Amino acid sequence: MSSEIRKIGIVGAGQMGKGIAQVCALAGFDVAVNDVSDERIGAGIDDISAHLCRAVERGQLDEARRKAALGRIRPASSYAAFADSDLVIEAATENEEVKRKILSDLGPTLRPGAIVATNTSSISITRLASVTGRPEQFIGIHFMNPVPKMQLVELIRGIATEDRTFETAKQFIADLGKTVTVSEDFPAFIVNRILLPMINEAIYTLYEGVGTVEAIDTAMRLGANHPMGPLQLADFIGLDVCLSVMQVLHEGLADSKYRPCPLLVKYVEAGWLGRKTQRGFYDYRSGTPVPTR
Ligand code: NAD
Repeated sequence: MSSEIRKIGIVGAGQMGKGIAQVCALAGFDVAVNDVSDERIGAGIDDISAHLCRAVERGQLDEARRKAALGRIRPASSYAAFADSDLVIEAATENEEVKRKILSDLGPTLRPGAIVATNTSSISITRLASVTGRPEQFIGIHFMNPVPKMQLVELIRGIATEDRTFETAKQFIADLGKTVTVSEDFPAFIVNRILLPMINEAIYTLYEGVGTVEAIDTAMRLGANHPMGPLQLADFIGLDVCLSVMQVLHEGLADSKYRPCPLLVKYVEAGWLGRKTQRGFYDYRSGTPVPTR
């Protein structure tokens, strides 16, 4: 490990926070994980543990590395646990108010020079930087889902991000064995600027009755050679995250082509958020995904 990062704090132990914690611990970093309650933090660490055990069973990881990685992860019930962190990554819910509160509370608890990053999928890095009290040491480090599997990480500088912050973040990603692409700070950056309108269009295709859930996903899997259909992928990402990204694109670029599909809004209002709530465009409760339309 060559970067000046050793200790990492993570805010948010949802699907992304857990994945980030796991890859960091496997790469030899010490990781402290925070969420809204001790129960959530505990559940997050239990999930990471179960994931690592499955990797051992499949022969993808040896027992000594599993044990060492798990030993590097600790719960952080308050930001005081981040006092010695070199880097804190915010991976909480995709909601600007939530993120602004976290980032403004976090700043004073960190040592000077510590870097703060956000894993936001879409929100302006420059705008979030403004509440951190350290915009020069703030950057977007956007991991892909699922973090342990996906090779890419997008790096996004805010207007004030210093070169040192950028270079340190780049080295950190290299230390994780992942590949960086650099994106300018525009709504949804590169991957989601392209991917989410495609998913939203798939939902319109469903909404307008052009095809069923199954027809749309099969069409894109076999007709465009995508590994997953767009509705399957939406469920995997989380429909609340998809909606938030579309709203940021719609508001940020002021173009009606980014209007979130009303059917997506309806699913989110119903609390059908995809895999994480067991129901979205598919119902996962029986173990076999069943289309909900
Ligand atoms: P998630 O809903 O699985 O997890 C979010 C977590 O944040 C929850 O555990 C929640 O309790 C926690 N949280 C909410 N408010 C908090 C607070 N004030 N303090 C601490 N924790 C808090 O969401 P996710 O999919 O893990 O997304 C997290 C971030 O990663 C979002 O910014 C999202 O846009 C981004 N992201 C998501 C994906 C994806 O495919 N889901 C991919 C890349 C980036």
